[in-house]
Amino acid sequence: MTPDYSAILNTIYAEIQPLLSEGEVASYIPQLSTISPQHFGMAVYCLDGRTFAVGDAHQKFSLQSITKLFALALAFSREGDSIWTRVGREPSGNPFNSLVQLEYERGKPRNPFINAGALVISDILSTRFVQSDIAVLQFARMIADEPNIDFDTTVAQSEHETAHRNYAIAHLMKDFGNFHNPVRTVIESYCRQCSITMTCAELAKAGSFLAQHGSIPWNGTQILDASSAKRMNALMLTCGTYDAAGDFAYRVGLPAKSGVGGGILALVPGDLAVAVWSPGLDTTGNSLAGTYALERFTTLTARSIF
Ligand code: GLU
Repeated sequence: MTPDYSAILNTIYAEIQPLLSEGEVASYIPQLSTISPQHFGMAVYCLDGRTFAVGDAHQKFSLQSITKLFALALAFSREGDSIWTRVGREPSGNPFNSLVQLEYERGKPRNPFINAGALVISDILSTRFVQSDIAVLQFARMIADEPNIDFDTTVAQSEHETAHRNYAIAHLMKDFGNFHNPVRTVIESYCRQCSITMTCAELAKAGSFLAQHGSIPWNGTQILDASSAKRMNALMLTCGTYDAAGDFAYRVGLPAKSGVGGGILALVPGDLAVAVWSPGLDTTGNSLAGTYALERFTTLTARSIF
């Protein structure tokens, strides 16, 4: 039976209201701390083209780490399995911006969704494209079918001014020989990439190719082959929600990627993509109300991968 997505989103919207004052907005990127934690938006993009939305689903927000998914899909589609010589595929069990593991694992990041791994992917894209940030932006515009998607240069600049840890990570990897382009060029591109803004409605649509075995639902363009799309989904499930991926899988049961801007993109393979945004984060860096909303979504729709 097809769930009544409209009614379910409205139920979730009512349920999450008390949670909006509980999370903490990210402040290590100063510009992100100016956003009110009271926002909440959620949007569903079904592979048959139906869309559903509630709350602030049409308001732009900073994608941050969710862009790591787009960068990885672009790099994977162009470079194939060779990327795995430079970055691993295991959960890290450490905070997303940790340097510790990188030192004793000799500069090879655990996975492409922690900052070290995403910086290696940016480095790979910087070798392939003149400007990796523009390549990711164009890719995002294509998969969202939305030419107006853009960077938020104020957020990018704010991140760059405080990007000491990302500089340290990149220099450490360069010392181990796992970073080929100038550190500053790559970090500047990475900060612009992370500053891309979308609405929940745009994000759900942009992620839908990953729910449809790598092909864009509305025009059939094959972005990734089915096997690669399966692998992306597996990485999202095991590594996509920081150091809480196990708990997220337990509670929500879907492959997902979160960002410190408070967004989460989750996939029901073969069925739909769902995006949620609420800037208040829990202690693991995932949107507090957003995670709860997705937990309720899979419960109320009886849709998950398990
Ligand atoms: N641009 C952010 C950083 O590198 C992304 C972090 C995130 O969303 O997890 O710190």
